[in-house]
Amino acid sequence: MLVNTKQMLEAAKKGNYAVPGANVFNLESIKGVIGAAREKNLPLMVCLAEVHTPELGIEETARIVKYYAKESEQEIALHFDHGFTPELIRQAIDAGFTSVMVDGSSLPFHENVEKTKEIVEYAHKKGVTVEAEIGHVGGGESYLDPEDDDTMLTTVEEAKEFARLTGVDSLAVSIGTAHGEYKGTPHLDFERLQEIADCVEIPLVLHGGSGSGDENLTKAVKLGICKVNICTDLMIAARDYTKEGYGERSYYDSMTLAQEGIKDCLKHYYDVFLTKNPSEK
Ligand SMILES: [Zn+2]
Repeated sequence: MLVNTKQMLEAAKKGNYAVPGANVFNLESIKGVIGAAREKNLPLMVCLAEVHTPELGIEETARIVKYYAKESEQEIALHFDHGFTPELIRQAIDAGFTSVMVDGSSLPFHENVEKTKEIVEYAHKKGVTVEAEIGHVGGGESYLDPEDDDTMLTTVEEAKEFARLTGVDSLAVSIGTAHGEYKGTPHLDFERLQEIADCVEIPLVLHGGSGSGDENLTKAVKLGICKVNICTDLMIAARDYTKEGYGERSYYDSMTLAQEGIKDCLKHYYDVFLTKNPSEK
């Protein structure tokens, strides 16, 4: 069933687990991530990033995900990820996405506040949940080389002030992760995360989950992260599952394997994120 993102995140905060924010970019990835949610019987946030909309449209994704959500017993939320363009964010809200992320993290603090506030006002009128980012998780918002990582860590003061000024529902914080593939395992600033979690009431979100190390991610979840974004590792799994026998296999088989890879990768992350089914006590 399609559910309200706010309730999903609040249940995660209460239960001390995280829901995966799994990025999708085509039909196979949608079927892969929803397949994982079904097999594990756990909640899922399906994420479409603005950078992937040339391949998978907003209206198109809304219709497809609503169809699968209706056919699923599990709680499924539909999230517009890294929205930079206000018109597209509003388009996602109007199409029935249950949450949107407004990404003003590269802007100066007050411009980020203003941009976020405008979306919060529009979204809340329609019952849609808003995530924003303070500090900046760098590395490029798609499958890019993190050589040009420009991560800036979130300060406790900024996080508190930003949440208060914008009225946003969840907050993405920068504690040392980056988007894309890492060369090694990153060093996460858990002390900073603990301090932010102690001062900010709303659920916290971690971007750049892929390759951050399972132990690191579980620890971050235990300290208060309620949603972890996974994109790159799903793409890597799809690539790796289709690698062997490439050229001899039919397109149909490759497609099925890619879907299987994405499903298995997300099933693994469900364990790492300690995700629980909110209806099972
Ligand atoms: Zn991200």
